[in-house]
Amino acid sequence: MSHRPLTHHGARGDLPVRVLTHPRWRTIRIRVDARGVTLTAPARTRRRSMEAALRHHAAWIDRTLAETPRTPPPDARAHAARVRAARPGLVALVDAWAPRVGVTVARVVVRDQRTRWGSASARGTISLNWRLSLVPPNVAVYVVVHELCHLVEMNHSPAFWALVEGHLPGYRERRRWLRAHGGAILDQRDTPETEGDR
Ligand SMILES: [Zn+2]
Repeated sequence: MSHRPLTHHGARGDLPVRVLTHPRWRTIRIRVDARGVTLTAPARTRRRSMEAALRHHAAWIDRTLAETPRTPPPDARAHAARVRAARPGLVALVDAWAPRVGVTVARVVVRDQRTRWGSASARGTISLNWRLSLVPPNVAVYVVVHELCHLVEMNHSPAFWALVEGHLPGYRERRRWLRAHGGAILDQRDTPETEGDR
């Protein structure tokens, strides 16, 4: 959900690309810095055009990445601990809501992601961002219900939103909260300790 990430298919593998849009920006620009690759574009730029720009500049991106010092990755062990700490609470939410939505979940994956809160696959896997343990519980419920509803409707059609609303009549407010505050939580470099803190 939220902004679907783009990917730079580089010579050394795939890299997620941060996308920023603004109505006043005139052209697509690509920036490479210590945080990685960022694409800025006028509002309403088609995803296809963004992908074309990334392809067109792929060699330059690879070259620039190689020359740019990266911020050291966050302590991988601390991250693994946060994912582990967040997992039971998120799995419990999925277990509680899947029967109400009327879906069967094959697998729950809790991961560390910078661009999305959750996703659902046609095979019944629900992926959730461990950072959902940092948002208000009713907002986390919204994300879980949103992803569960994707097992019924694999799109954001009116039918999908009607389904979400049927289960969570107040979902719009929770969604607004996520839009207003979620970005800052996803962007947090220095994440607070959550071990044993749920
Ligand atoms: Zn969605």
